[in-house]
Amino acid sequence: MAKAVNNMGMSIVEPQERMRFLSNHGNIIEVDANVPVTRYYRSGTEMLRMANVYLTEGNHENAFILYMKYMTLFIEKIRSHPEYPKIKAEVKVINKRIKEEIMPTTEKLRAKLLERYQKEYEQFLANKEAEKARELERERQRRATAGGSSSGGSGAHIPTNLHVQIDPSMQPSAPDLGLLDKVVYPSDFPTGTNRAGSGLLLPGDADKEGAKSISKPPSFDRNQKPHYERSDSLLAGSLRTVIIPENTMDVFLQLAQSNTLKNIETCGILAGHLAQNRLFITHIIIPKQQGTPDSCNTMNEEEIFDVQDQQNLITLGWIHTHPSQTAFLSSVDLHTHCSYQMMMPEAIAIVCAPKYKTTGFFILTPDYGLDYIAQCRQTGFHPHPNEPRLYMESQHIQLDAQRKIQVVDLRR
Ligand SMILES: [Zn+2]
Ligand SMILES: [Zn+2]
Repeated sequence: MAKAVNNMGMSIVEPQERMRFLSNHGNIIEVDANVPVTRYYRSGTEMLRMANVYLTEGNHENAFILYMKYMTLFIEKIRSHPEYPKIKAEVKVINKRIKEEIMPTTEKLRAKLLERYQKEYEQFLANKEAEKARELERERQRRATAGGSSSGGSGAHIPTNLHVQIDPSMQPSAPDLGLLDKVVYPSDFPTGTNRAGSGLLLPGDADKEGAKSISKPPSFDRNQKPHYERSDSLLAGSLRTVIIPENTMDVFLQLAQSNTLKNIETCGILAGHLAQNRLFITHIIIPKQQGTPDSCNTMNEEEIFDVQDQQNLITLGWIHTHPSQTAFLSSVDLHTHCSYQMMMPEAIAIVCAPKYKTTGFFILTPDYGLDYIAQCRQTGFHPHPNEPRLYMESQHIQLDAQRKIQVVDLRR
């Protein structure tokens, strides 16, 4: 896990290769025939919401990846879904949007990124040249002090004017995909907060929270090491942090109390927004629902979507009570959560067990449980094998005592 790489050991790739890698990353998206097609349209809307935030904040790589994903999903992959023929109207609207807004924006982003990659590459080569020159100088001095009367050091000529030359032999040949995870950036490239103002915003869709956060002073320090690894890239593949207001569980238990006293489950949707590559839960939306002692079904999903659209919210998971049991995920819960996590890898399931005064914050294990449950065709309560584990306590959450959860109760 040695992250600091010295000047000469830094991994950087030729601009076109980096671009290709980025595009390929955006193509990784699969459509599951067992997930209702409407879910993909919801997910697409949220993808654009997040892409717009990344754009506003100047995180062009992440914006580019999400736009590529969106286009791959709706131009290509969705066609394999059995319900595809039923959704002609949506397809038309989306295709129009892709053609008129998303495609041109993505192309602008591509040009901007290529330009940046080119600059970074030139900087990299210049550093390399300079280091080579210093090496030669040291070698010359060694020979001089050794008093060598041999050839006179004609081979130790020091270039006085270091032009950046892109020597094809120095460019990495076949792209090593692992390399891209280690891409480092020259220090003169500004970090997230001061890269805004690209003028690439999609009309009328800017996330207000995101816009606000731009005005913070840049945290960039010119004295730091010449390069660093970006932690805010979707390329890194790690889960983004989910911030949860600390009072979320208490507020939810209050809302659930009358059900809990009757030994009936209550459930709610956790929604929020993206900012600075972190996901903030801001709302619990309580839908109309039907609960039993060990299950809870949401009704009227359209109402939930309306609330989310009005407030520009993305879906970040769900919360439910176990009125008389401990905090765990039942087999039915695992299947419910699977559809959340398939659409949003960071989505969490919070289980409140008031009788035991415990709370669980769960996700399906990303490397096993998610796929396993997605493939499982059983419904209702049914046994799953215990090993390897299907779900775990989520490690990517952070409770925040400063923030307060907001409630939208649709039950009445
Ligand atoms: Zn449950
Ligand atoms: Zn199952």
